[in-house]
Amino acid sequence: SPWPRYGETPDTDTPEVKAWVQAVDWSKVPKLPIRKTKSRGDPPDCPEHEVPEDECWWTCSGCFAHDDVMDCPAKDAWGLTFDDGPQPGTTEDLLELLKHKNVTATFFVTGMKSSRAPWLLQETIDQGHHLASHTWSHSGMTTLTNEQVVAELKWTEKYIYDHTGYKIKYFRPPYGDVDNRVRAIARQLGFKTVIWSHEWDTQDWQLEENTITPTQIESIFKNGLKSLSKRETGPISLEHDGDPKMVTVA
Ligand SMILES: [Zn+2]
Repeated sequence: SPWPRYGETPDTDTPEVKAWVQAVDWSKVPKLPIRKTKSRGDPPDCPEHEVPEDECWWTCSGCFAHDDVMDCPAKDAWGLTFDDGPQPGTTEDLLELLKHKNVTATFFVTGMKSSRAPWLLQETIDQGHHLASHTWSHSGMTTLTNEQVVAELKWTEKYIYDHTGYKIKYFRPPYGDVDNRVRAIARQLGFKTVIWSHEWDTQDWQLEENTITPTQIESIFKNGLKSLSKRETGPISLEHDGDPKMVTVA
């Protein structure tokens, strides 16, 4: 297969990645440390000292940048987003449910999962939904080198474009793991970084570990709804379609 391997950060020593890296204006990318992580692919370990403000490292200091997308501009809009798919079975069930409820959503897909179910990308678009990038291998982006970040983002964009003709505009870092270095690279590649509205993280990923119940998730939704009237903007909620248990709650 000409595509990167499943579950791995794409190789950077290839003609494709070299050309992509060369097209970036690296003078606009700050030189920040590559973050440490216990095991490859996991989110980074946060340092004991405070994160310098100019690094704006969301995962470890909650900092967001002026152009991070965190809310929908319209107050009455609700950005329904699903991460970590496409997953055969689960994604189809979710598409069916959304069609039934007549709502559209944005699916932040990984390149690796897409490469195992490319037909689901087209099906998602055909039903009026949006696709966005959740990187190739779902690694903590701040733990990767500049070249690896480029490879993660560009291979995912290329995979989706080559299979659907759909041009990705938005990128959501796995675990929300983004700092000013990763943001600058994404910006250079033409992607807007999307985080999520804090009180609207449904924590549904904990279903996988059975540490949260469907009722608790429902109450996160209800609390979010209560806070709606106080908001100036519409929320972006975060859910997942990578695991069958999660779609049953939706
Ligand atoms: Zn994710």
